[in-house]
Amino acid sequence: MKHRDLIACHECDVLFRKPPRLRGLVAHCSSCGANIKGVRHAGLTLERVCAVTVASLVTYLIALAFPVLALETNGITSHATLFEAVQALWQDHMHIVAAMVFCTTILFPLLELVALLYLLLPLRAGRVPRAFDAVLRLVQFVRPWGMTEVFMLGVLITIMKMVSLARVIPETSLFAFGALTLMFCVIAACDPRMLWELRDEVMNRGGAEPTVHPATANVSVIHTGFVACHCCGLVHSRSAHASDARCARCRSPLHELRPESITRTFGLLLAAALLYIPANLLPIMHTSSLGRTEDDTILGGIAYFWRSGDWPLAVIVFVASVMVPMLKLAILTLQTVTAHRGSDWRPLERAKLYRMVERIGRWSMLDIFVVSLTVALVRFGSLAQITAGPGALAFGSVVVLTMLASNAFDPRLIWKNVRCRPARAPA
Ligand SMILES: [Zn+2]
Ligand SMILES: [Zn+2]
Repeated sequence: MKHRDLIACHECDVLFRKPPRLRGLVAHCSSCGANIKGVRHAGLTLERVCAVTVASLVTYLIALAFPVLALETNGITSHATLFEAVQALWQDHMHIVAAMVFCTTILFPLLELVALLYLLLPLRAGRVPRAFDAVLRLVQFVRPWGMTEVFMLGVLITIMKMVSLARVIPETSLFAFGALTLMFCVIAACDPRMLWELRDEVMNRGGAEPTVHPATANVSVIHTGFVACHCCGLVHSRSAHASDARCARCRSPLHELRPESITRTFGLLLAAALLYIPANLLPIMHTSSLGRTEDDTILGGIAYFWRSGDWPLAVIVFVASVMVPMLKLAILTLQTVTAHRGSDWRPLERAKLYRMVERIGRWSMLDIFVVSLTVALVRFGSLAQITAGPGALAFGSVVVLTMLASNAFDPRLIWKNVRCRPARAPA
């Protein structure tokens, strides 16, 4: 049995009765302070999201077709498109790093835009498209991995890095990526859980109003006879929750907590921590110019920026490449250990730390994007040539592994043993 009038917080599992009008509300969980997904509407209409998605798709095609930057030195000019950046890494036998850059900057953002359009256009016309569930689950899967805004910052850092070596000419694609970064902010406000609600609205149009279930607010799903779907958030009765039960709306498997969450998070963290050492010790770039060769590590690059007076750049790269991965490793280790011991220590603070890790994790890809653009741009034959080093592979793997680890961690574990919840006034 489904309960469409109930909604569960995706982080701490507290049950709420849905407010009568979902639109225009930004609801926060009264227990852990998370934004309640699916309720948040952010003032966006379906028309506006559709228009921005179409515009983004066109801009993306422009961004892919034209060069991002051009470099001119001694009368020789070299251009680099995003595809050429991926190709340059591939030719340097950095196949995994090339695949990472290709997926995060080309494949996943494009997939998200096409899939969103496939869902939004029929919904706007009052129809539910075929394979709605699978396509929306695809959007939910690829969204955290599309990194257009991080790539944009990577381009800006590459410009500042190159400016002392040669004349840097911004090209069409740079402006397209600037526009895309803004448009993706609008698209990010369109929560996939809102689309699940919208699908229900379209399908039940003219149907009976949902009956109000006499459940009390502010009780956890665990302490009642309910279980909430991890993918779309629909609340089900526990009687329907057998070991192989699936969600009635999105067909995802139903379980109270993600299975094996602690073991998986810990395994991924261990792998990331081991790779963090070669990521900092091995060179991420080899530079050869006029017979001289030089190896650059991440820390060496930061020191170079600092010595040459570019301290804001040194601070940005230090925060993104050194501090963020270390913070992520430390916070996720704390979360795994406290969850493993079933601790009820400072749940609100731990929930805030978890949300911070989810938000900042992607920004560590910055250095990988800077390396790929630099490698594609500096190809002046015997004059100067830059290739990617093994440190780039180790560093990229650390970023991907820590993102997978924070995905594998179930935030409900933080609240599992917290009996007395601090009640806050709903926002
Ligand atoms: Zn909550
Ligand atoms: Zn579901």
